[in-house]
Amino acid sequence: MSHRFVHLSACLLLAAFTQLNAQSAASAAPQPLTAMPYSPSLDVTSLDRSVDPCQDFYRFSCGGWMKNNPIPADQARWSVYSKVANDNLQFLWGLLEADSKASNRTPTQQKVGDYFAACMDTAAIDKLGAAPIQPTLAAINALPDRKALIAYLGTLNRNTRGSFFFNSGATQDPGDSNSVIAEISAGGLGLPDRDYYLKTDAKSEETRKAYLAYIEKILTLAGEPAPQAQKDAASIMRIETDLAKASLTRVERRDPYKQYHKMTIAQLSADSPVINWPDYLRVQGVTNVATLNVAQPAFQKAVDHALTTESVEDLKAYLRFHAVTAAATSLSAPFEDTSFDFYSRHLRGTQQKPPRWKTCVRQVDRALGEALGQEFVARTFSADTKQKTVLMTDQIEQAMQTEIEQLDWMSPATKQEALRKLHTVRNKIGYPDKWRDYSKLEIKAGDYFGNTVRAADFETARDWAKVGKPVDRNEWDMTPPTVNAYYNPQMNDVNFPAGVLQPPLYDPKMDDAPNYGNTGSTIGHELTHGFDDEGRQFDAQGNLKDWWTKDDAKGFEDRINCLRDQFATYVVVDDIHINSKLTSGEDVADLGGTLIAYMAWTKATANANLQPAEGFTPEQRFFIGFAQWACENTREANSRLQAATDPHSPGFARINGIVTNLPEFATAFKCKAGQPMVKAKVCKVW
Ligand SMILES: [Zn+2]
Repeated sequence: MSHRFVHLSACLLLAAFTQLNAQSAASAAPQPLTAMPYSPSLDVTSLDRSVDPCQDFYRFSCGGWMKNNPIPADQARWSVYSKVANDNLQFLWGLLEADSKASNRTPTQQKVGDYFAACMDTAAIDKLGAAPIQPTLAAINALPDRKALIAYLGTLNRNTRGSFFFNSGATQDPGDSNSVIAEISAGGLGLPDRDYYLKTDAKSEETRKAYLAYIEKILTLAGEPAPQAQKDAASIMRIETDLAKASLTRVERRDPYKQYHKMTIAQLSADSPVINWPDYLRVQGVTNVATLNVAQPAFQKAVDHALTTESVEDLKAYLRFHAVTAAATSLSAPFEDTSFDFYSRHLRGTQQKPPRWKTCVRQVDRALGEALGQEFVARTFSADTKQKTVLMTDQIEQAMQTEIEQLDWMSPATKQEALRKLHTVRNKIGYPDKWRDYSKLEIKAGDYFGNTVRAADFETARDWAKVGKPVDRNEWDMTPPTVNAYYNPQMNDVNFPAGVLQPPLYDPKMDDAPNYGNTGSTIGHELTHGFDDEGRQFDAQGNLKDWWTKDDAKGFEDRINCLRDQFATYVVVDDIHINSKLTSGEDVADLGGTLIAYMAWTKATANANLQPAEGFTPEQRFFIGFAQWACENTREANSRLQAATDPHSPGFARINGIVTNLPEFATAFKCKAGQPMVKAKVCKVW
């Protein structure tokens, strides 16, 4: 399974985990959409005018939205972004219904249509029960001894969905951004983070109990007698806890050097001798590997320890569980429900399973994202929107240049490198220039499980095939309908899928002010990621290389610490504060991004005769447009999970924590010293 060296630090929202588990609006029987619904990028009905904007700007901007948009029963969290994502899915549903029935389909329509229809056929899926996973379980059970079991890890990680002890795949070489190398990285856990295994508070104890019950239940469904499943659950928890202890924390993983250990196969074999690495790589289909990256060498030692000290029976139980839990959402209703009960209901507080159509649209997006994306783009992303958002991105880059040139604390030498990096950023707007080719992926009508296996296999093969080849800089890590955006420090590119450039985020019918406040700040946010605590460690070519003078690096850290101290004061839920060491990259991007969007807007409209509208000055409209991207409601359980895992601060802090640092905001709303939205001393990084 593939695993990026540098996680996409720059996603605007919580990425993959949410995508998988986010659920639908529960209002009366939704229908497929034939056009995207419209709401404005500044929505006065979302305001709460009873709140003074200088007291709590987030509440003022979003209070109405929060009241008007309760969390649907099948959602862990509901936000302006989730609503757009929901609209996109509902629109894609219409496309897929048509593609599943039409005659004379194109090969692309056949693939996406048949994948969707097979997923929708729950009667056929339920009839199969646990049968699709049985061959894998039988193969694990038949392993004669420890040696055979260890050798089989290569096959499992290559051919079976799931994370078996560790992950492996292709990655861009952090030290040489033009080349793709193999990588071994930490994995093998069933809970969302290492901390879930190690924290001793009552909530964490409760979650571990629920996880044990989940393991037991899903193994029982797969055919184990209950007493055996109970014993296995305890063994699996013990194995995973040992792996968790050896894993880096999320904060440690923000330091790219901590996950960069390039070594020869011989070195890896000497350090972690239990696995036959040349054989392992051969099974993955790569034979041209001389060196590779071992993201967490200490973790690999823990893997070796488990593989040599745990009994073969317990190791088999661990492998069976990971095969079943990874396949659960593609199996019959009892498996899917059990997975939902733990991962969505318990961990996130979601009350209800999503409707089937939504699950299936999401599965097609995961398996055939750029095939489905072509259809989405053709219908929703106009040439005019592309042109305008490309222009906005250029303007915001110019504002960033001005900002860098004006910094009083940075030396000319570092500035020069920063500008070189800025001018090298590639802007990818809407969709890839060249679409991915799925012609070799076979999708069969009526074979849902088989389709999911072939699609995963296709992706794994595609990933491993990159090793030893030059990096493809046209590639995207998000599909076009995705409502999100990212900066990739190794590519040094910003990526804005068509899905995030829709109203109310980008609104072609609205004046510039809220659009620059909303989409402009998002563009600025992603661009600033090139210069946050993680991104700044990569140079213009995307190489992990220190281009800062010592004093400038210290100056930068001092300025980030100002934000860290501020954000650490915000409470997420109960007595849990923001872990601002984890969120500081996102907080820096929010602050810098909003500032440069404001500069770009001011410059772009310098000669325009701006007028108040809907009772607000143009400056006020910019800031309300900015705040209204972040309106949200979140369940408590989900807030707890986000506090532990999400590098983004919660919505209220992403607005109030930013405007308090922008004197332009206080001026626009005539806020006075001493009011909560006015800080005595502002933080400024970029
Ligand atoms: Zn971000």
